[in-house]
Amino acid sequence: MNNTVTHANSCTLHTHNNPHNGLFAIIAIHSTKLGPALGGCRCIDYPSTEYAIEDATRLAKGMSYKAALAGISHGGGKSVLIRPKEFKDRHAYFEEFGEFVESLGGSYITSVDSGTNIADMDDISHSTTHVCGTRHDGCTPSIYTAMGVLEGIKAAVKAKLHRQDLEGIHVVIQGVGNVGGALAISLERLGAKLSISDISDTTLDHCLQQLKHPGSVNIIAPDDIYNVPCDVFSPCGLGGIINQQSLPQLDCKIVAGSANNQLSNDSDGLHLHERGILYAPDYVINAGGLIDVSLIPQGVSEQDVALKTKNIGTTLEEIFVRSEKESKACHAIANEMAENILYH
Ligand code: NAD
Repeated sequence: MNNTVTHANSCTLHTHNNPHNGLFAIIAIHSTKLGPALGGCRCIDYPSTEYAIEDATRLAKGMSYKAALAGISHGGGKSVLIRPKEFKDRHAYFEEFGEFVESLGGSYITSVDSGTNIADMDDISHSTTHVCGTRHDGCTPSIYTAMGVLEGIKAAVKAKLHRQDLEGIHVVIQGVGNVGGALAISLERLGAKLSISDISDTTLDHCLQQLKHPGSVNIIAPDDIYNVPCDVFSPCGLGGIINQQSLPQLDCKIVAGSANNQLSNDSDGLHLHERGILYAPDYVINAGGLIDVSLIPQGVSEQDVALKTKNIGTTLEEIFVRSEKESKACHAIANEMAENILYH
């Protein structure tokens, strides 16, 4: 067992290795300038330790930028657990990870991410208080993420289409899981025209069952989603979907969805800008869940969390205005704004 501290990609890196139970944990802390670093715990397969470190540091930096523009008193961090071939004792594994989090004295607070769940957070909470998203703390991040995305879509429609409402606005949602499904319900209520897609038929059916008029919704095959003519393309599935293959196919005026890391790289954000497609930067529009897990455990009321989440629309309006005025891509403006808060 060891516990080392190194630095990589502007992050402080803490590692913990227990060969007896396969726990190999990396905690990357990018910034604590605004408060303790907050970010989820991933437990997935990685081809190498280097790849896992790269993922942890990239995600930790993204969390700093997200928290800065969401106006919450947290820095950015992320933990990555290289998933063992099998769990001998999953409860003990996450309790030990909790001890590792505790050893950092509160500079890092963990939460749910890919490959972890609420039960894992409960196990972590046996060893540390620096965890949110447990069964008992009342957080519902997906609901607030969907709320923020809805506000972002309203702001983008206002800026690009000069419309104050969403009646008849055609939104294509890629992925109708926790966030995309909740978003679909809200959009239907506001009179938007919906096209939806999911690689899981079960998830697709679940979403349709929750809608009032499922017969009015277009179901699109996952491979055909990009070239559906629409007002808003809303990626709520996986990251990296704005890329050299999808860009030429896009037939939308706005890209606004919850997925993390939507641009496969920065030049794709520039291409969107050059094509006149308004892009709501992912870490700005999808910050509702972070706002929820940051504020609810501090005792902030659900009403105030909702108000803060709705403010995402105002931040995006500022980004859209500056993008137009300065002829710069929206993701570049968002980065400048976040860096101004983090580094000055
Ligand atoms: P989820 O797993 O509940 O839903 C994602 C859905 O997308 C799944 O139903 C999956 O089958 C579908 N999907 C994946 N690839 C697809 C494809 N190529 N085409 C169509 N459907 C596809 O996840 P979620 O919690 O709803 O999160 C959605 C996205 O938003 C993720 O990228 C996540 O990282 C991001 N995000 C979520 C939150 C949150 O609070 N849940 C917060 C910030 C960011």
